[in-house]
Amino acid sequence: MVPELMALVEIQQIDKDIREIESANLSLNKQLEKEKEEIAKKKAILQEMVEKKDALQKDLRHNERTLQQIEQNLEGFEKKIYQVKSQKELEAVDHEIAKSRKERSNVEDAILICMTSTEEISISLSKQEKELKKETDDFDCQSQKIEADIKLNIQKLLTANTKKQEIISTIEPTLLSNYERLREGRNNLAVVHVEGGICQGCFITLPPQQVNEVRVGNSIIRCSSCARMLYWKG
Ligand SMILES: [Zn+2]
Repeated sequence: MVPELMALVEIQQIDKDIREIESANLSLNKQLEKEKEEIAKKKAILQEMVEKKDALQKDLRHNERTLQQIEQNLEGFEKKIYQVKSQKELEAVDHEIAKSRKERSNVEDAILICMTSTEEISISLSKQEKELKKETDDFDCQSQKIEADIKLNIQKLLTANTKKQEIISTIEPTLLSNYERLREGRNNLAVVHVEGGICQGCFITLPPQQVNEVRVGNSIIRCSSCARMLYWKG
């Protein structure tokens, strides 16, 4: 085989390896990002729940203070009832008492609702916090492995590129640019072997004379159909 062709075959293999490693790292990074997003979403939901619980507790404290105030008012009105001097005054105090009792009942209902909701949200929150903790721990473990794989792949890429540069330095620049052009236009396959008289790039049957020239390997022969550079294997 023409020695430079052998070098191109090697470069082609390295290019293929590089593409595979790069694509592997891309999907590993995507996987990391996706899982980070999932966890961030869940954290945001939890944060909303915490805020809702805080708001409920604030409402609860407010309602408790209101209830206290109403109780004091009621106490005052109930004492006042013994001090009234006219029917009109009695009616007015009665009216105030009825009004306060109604208010008390409403606030008590509101307190009950706040307490029930706080209880529900606390249960749900604690369950989801536990789930998130487990998921975060799993993710930390998994991401360490993924990051190690990514680093390993980066190392492989460096090695592959160094090897590629070494080989490139032995190839004549015109041939190299021909290779690059062909690779871009021929689905990353610029150099192919001939098997059973068939070009393994486009699968056309080559003329016997051309096959023979490839076998002899004195010069670089290109497929008459796809223009790929041909080499003899075996
Ligand atoms: Zn061909």
